[in-house]
Parts: sequence; C-alpha cells; structure tokens
Amino acid sequence: MNKTYYNWLENIRDWCVSRQLWWGHRIPAYYCQDCGEVTVSKESVCTCPKCQSSNIQQDPDTLDTWFSSALWPFSTLGWPKTTEEMDYFFPTDVLVTGYDIIFFWVIRMVFSSLEQTGRLPFHTVLFHGLVRDDQGRKMSKSLGNGIDPLEVIDKYGADALRFTLITGNAPGNDMRFYWERVEASRNFANKVWNASRFIMMNMEKADVTDAALDHLTLADRWILSKVNHLAKDMTENLDKFELGIAASKVYDFIWEEFCDWYIEMVKPRLYSDTDETKGAALWTLKTVLVNALKLLHPYMPFVTEEIFCNLQEEEESIMISAWPEWKQDWDFASDEAAVDTIKEAVRGIRNLRAGMNVAPGRKATVFVVSEKDEVRSVFEDARVFFATLGYASEVYVQADKSGIADDAVSAVIKDATVYIPFAELVDIDKEIERLEKEQKRLEGEIKRCNGMLNNPNFVGKAPAAKIEEEKGKLETYTNMLAQVKERLEQLKK
Ligand SMILES: [Zn+2]
Repeated sequence: MNKTYYNWLENIRDWCVSRQLWWGHRIPAYYCQDCGEVTVSKESVCTCPKCQSSNIQQDPDTLDTWFSSALWPFSTLGWPKTTEEMDYFFPTDVLVTGYDIIFFWVIRMVFSSLEQTGRLPFHTVLFHGLVRDDQGRKMSKSLGNGIDPLEVIDKYGADALRFTLITGNAPGNDMRFYWERVEASRNFANKVWNASRFIMMNMEKADVTDAALDHLTLADRWILSKVNHLAKDMTENLDKFELGIAASKVYDFIWEEFCDWYIEMVKPRLYSDTDETKGAALWTLKTVLVNALKLLHPYMPFVTEEIFCNLQEEEESIMISAWPEWKQDWDFASDEAAVDTIKEAVRGIRNLRAGMNVAPGRKATVFVVSEKDEVRSVFEDARVFFATLGYASEVYVQADKSGIADDAVSAVIKDATVYIPFAELVDIDKEIERLEKEQKRLEGEIKRCNGMLNNPNFVGKAPAAKIEEEKGKLETYTNMLAQVKERLEQLKK
C-alpha cells in the first residue's frame, strides 16, 4: 500500500476541516455579534476581548471526522495530559484497518502524532479487505444490502462471526459475505463444545493421572507431537500476520486430528474398566484440548474461555494464560509417522467398504501383511484403536499371506497390504438378490430410453438438449448394467 500512501502525501492539497454536522468536535472560534471580532481559544469565550460585549456566538460547525479520528492513538490515552496510560501504551504496536481509509485515517494519525507528540503512533499497519455482499457488491445504504453484525451474532454467535471474518480475509483482499460460511463456523464452535463436553464427562468418571511421558501410548504421543508442531507453526504464521492460514491450521487440527481421529482412538481405553492407560488417555485429552483452546482463543474468544474455565483449575483465565510453545519433550517424530501409517490403513479399509456398500455395523476380520518388522510392530501397538477404526472383528498382523482366502479384498499402503475376506463383508445370497433386482430395474430403464430414442416423433420434435440427456442416461444405464452383470457372475462362482 506504500504507493497509495506516498502518492497522497506527495500530492497534498488543502483540506477543509469544517463540516456542517451536529456531531463532532466543535470548532473553537467565537464571533462577537457587535464588533465582528473573531477569537480562537481553548476556553469558552463569554466576553469580547475588543469591545467587552457579551453578545458572542461560537462557530456552529464541527471539525471533519478524520480531524478528530487523527487524534485517536493519543487522545484516547489522556493526551494532552500526561497519564500513566499514555506512558505505558504509547506508541502503540499494530493498527488494523481497511485499505480504503489509508489517507483518511492512517496518514492523518501519523502526521498528527508526529506533530503533537513527536513520535510515530504505531510501527505496523495491517490492512484487511472490505466485506462485500455475496455478489461482490460494496455494502451500502442505497442498495440495502448491508448486513447487521448484531443480527449475525444473534443467529450464530459472536465467535462464529469473528472466525468467519478472520478466515475469509487474506491481507488486503476483499471478501464476500456468505451466511453459509457463518453457519459452518458455528458448526465448528459446536464441534469444539461437544468434544469438550465429552472429555469433561469422562474426566468426571475417572482420575486424570499426571501422566509421565513414558506412560503414554503411541496415539497419545502422536497427538501431543501434533499439537506441539501446531503451536510452532501457528506462532510463525501469526508473527507474519498470516491470520487466516493460522486459523485454518487450528481448525483442521481440532476437527480432524483431534476429534475425528484421536478421540475415536482413545474411546476403547476410556470405556474399559481394566485399561491401565486410561489415566494417560484422560491426561492427554485434557492437555491437548487446553493447548488447542489457547491457540483458538484469539479467533473464538467466548467459547474457548467458557470451556477453559470449566476444564481446568491451574490457570484463572485463558485470556491471561501462557501461549503454547514448542517443546522438545513433546516431539515424537517416529510416532507421528507410525500413526500416519495406521490412518492410511484405516482409510484403505473405509474405501473398500464404501465401494462395496458395507454397513458400518458389519465387522470383519482384518489381516495386515508386511514383511517389515517395524511396520508390523506399529500395527501391534495400535491394535486397540486400529480394530475400532477399521471395523475389525479381529486383527491379524503377519509377515505373509498364509491363512488369507483367495477372494479377500485388499488395500495397498506403504510397506503393507490390508486384506479382508470377501465373504465377511458381503452376504452373498442377499447380494445376488439385490443385484438381480438392480439388473431388472436397469434393463427396464434401458428399454424406456431406447423406446424414446427410436421414436421418430420424439427425435423429430424434442429439443436437442432433451435428446442428448436421454442418450446420456442410456449410456450410464448400459455401463451400470455391465458392472452389475459382471458382479453377479463373480458372486455366482
Ligand atoms: Zn466585540
């Protein structure tokens, strides 16, 4: 924005500072109604210094808004008096504002501050874009397309609005306002809230042991290592004012790594009365949540503070709590790699099952085959949660394919292959029945399409687009039918 800034300063023009407005700093000029004398004074003038008349009127105009706003960095701190606040806070650090008021506001603050205090009012200006409507138009009274923030807050909460505005806004670029985005932010706040409730409920049922690091399991070390890196990455982003990038990192961490993966991984331990690592799981849940809340706090101040104060007693308020910092103790690179392998295997299993329409309730034996000892030991360590996440009735980890049926379906991941016996995923008789029904339905559709496309009345009169649509349908149904027939043939073997 330097160009805009200097261009304005180098082409400086006279500035009319009076405005005919009711609201503002009133111009301190007094006119004698008898002799016409003009007096400018800090104090109210009641008597004309020239003719002693008391028939005096102050100028009815006010100073331009920007004339007053220019005083903001120091007049709010008590200037022209010498105050503690002025001593402590001035000069300030970072000014955050829209790029459309660089010369109206930013430049005027700079020169007023230099004039009145001899110092710059701040060292850095962070420009954000303007919020436009969903069609990209500037919000204005005449278009009636303005959005009232209070209405948004009533509907979705202040945290959701704040998160939406920060994440959708690359420095200096305009953003469009979509209600759907605020709704998504609200959903995220709910996700954080629900995960926290779940953790607190479990903390009530069992003791949170102050887990020594060597009592932690693979999954615990993995998530600690993840939140550790998150703190480092986000701090670097924030130092560079990459607010949106940092926000999306904490969003992904909480939603995916913490809620979708880690909480699911520890559930079997939480629900077991005999698992000796339950306390370590609770400690990790609480510790990682506390850190994640702190990282999220600048974006969602209300919900994070509410949870923080209910969750822990060590610190009084999240607003004044210590910002998470990267620590060597929580750096577990090999555990991160191990859990990535497990996640890959789980994704492989889920894809296989989704491709075959297997109901989530249907469990199946899972074989993990790897020639590498270290890969097998990763799966052994992760057995508890791998079984749950992979919908496994049983997990066998082995070095070769012995005991695995020939028709087992498989997913290949790095250094290992996962096998699931076909018959355990699919009830063959039922599947044949379902596919035969599907075959009939598709044959009927194909007959209907052919009937239309072979009808000279239809082909001669229907719009071209309609004919193309029917041709497209025919092609889709024909392909589907071929697949169904192929599946049936396989199953009947
Ligand atoms: Zn006078």
